[in-house]
Amino acid sequence: MKRNPIINVKTAITDRFLKADNFPTKKNNPLLISSQNSNEKIHTKIKKSFLRYNCENLKDKKIIETVLKGYEKTHKGIYLSESEFILKLHEIDEFFNLEEEDVIRYILYRYKYNKFPLLKTLDNYPPCIQIEPTSVCNLRCIMCYQSDKTFSGKSNGFMGFMKFDLFKKIIDEIEGKIEAVTFASRGEPTLHPELDKFLNYCKDKFLALKLNTNATLLNEKKIHSLLSSDLQQLVLSIDEKNKENYEKIRVNAKFEIIMKNLKMLKEIREKHYKKSKLRIRISGVKVNTSQSIEGHNEFYKEFADEVILVDYGPWESAYDEPVNEIKEPCTELYRMMYVWYDGKVNPCDFDYKSLLAKENVKDNSIKSIWKSDYYSKLRDLHMSKQRKQLEPCKRCTNS
Ligand code: SF4
Repeated sequence: MKRNPIINVKTAITDRFLKADNFPTKKNNPLLISSQNSNEKIHTKIKKSFLRYNCENLKDKKIIETVLKGYEKTHKGIYLSESEFILKLHEIDEFFNLEEEDVIRYILYRYKYNKFPLLKTLDNYPPCIQIEPTSVCNLRCIMCYQSDKTFSGKSNGFMGFMKFDLFKKIIDEIEGKIEAVTFASRGEPTLHPELDKFLNYCKDKFLALKLNTNATLLNEKKIHSLLSSDLQQLVLSIDEKNKENYEKIRVNAKFEIIMKNLKMLKEIREKHYKKSKLRIRISGVKVNTSQSIEGHNEFYKEFADEVILVDYGPWESAYDEPVNEIKEPCTELYRMMYVWYDGKVNPCDFDYKSLLAKENVKDNSIKSIWKSDYYSKLRDLHMSKQRKQLEPCKRCTNS
């Protein structure tokens, strides 16, 4: 498999969780700092809300009791068991921003998101869903499936834009069932002419609405639309602080435009959205050993609340990677569902040509697809260490 020569890092086995290394190693690393000072307050807040909350679902009740027990054990200095859980610092920030009525909803969502994939527990719905407004992108980044012409070439049938009616059908089903919705996946969401309408339709429905963008197409109108929406997180994909390197990685993008857009975003945010709870993250991919998270953070921190560099995965060549020996089951099958612009449902975006997709939300509900025989078969193959039978799971490093 021939990679772009700029990519000189090795692919690691990963479950796509952020690790402490992805953040700058300074005082405010959210995955390193102890949350001891907040734990007592969090415990009290959850307990108070739990007493008021009419929890009819016994499984949910058990989860809250498990979380409370985790806090009590932490207080006594006792190690947590595999099923117990306390919030990490980046979650604690979100937690203290919550309205009282959302506390239990939030804890249930974070527990299911963090723990279910590890415990291989299944709910009626995935803890998180990614919706792709479009599979079209204006860039051809070297580590992205868009650089595979057999995917992004117009005549190959993979490119398109989601219709609002389909989007509405999805949102109507998942409201109150799934808390985390991400606008992202294979294309650039800000290219969708109706993104505004999509965002408006999500107002007051989710606790973790997120959008990923390469930030190259931002303008005043789009920035106002994003900042006035109900988004809780805006992720800007930027990997380098040096013009030459940035443009070598983000093919078709211009460094001057990115810098202009970041300044505009910062100014509009400071002037008009001071009270907004939306958090901005600049997230790059570490494709070359010369990239450092400290340098990246130093350069971009004035434009974001958080700057990170995630590990490289061979997304640009999923089907050409060698078959590997990984036997661990994939966490995506328990955490995520991806819905493409045309309603096709895929377990992940590593499989960007949807070899694993068998169902469509136009024909079936999200719930029935998540609990379908087909999805069970995928999970069973992974659990019985037979992921080698699946293409492209046999080439994928996600675990
Ligand atoms: S290709 Fe298979 S192993 Fe890889 S992320 Fe997708 S479902 Fe998981």
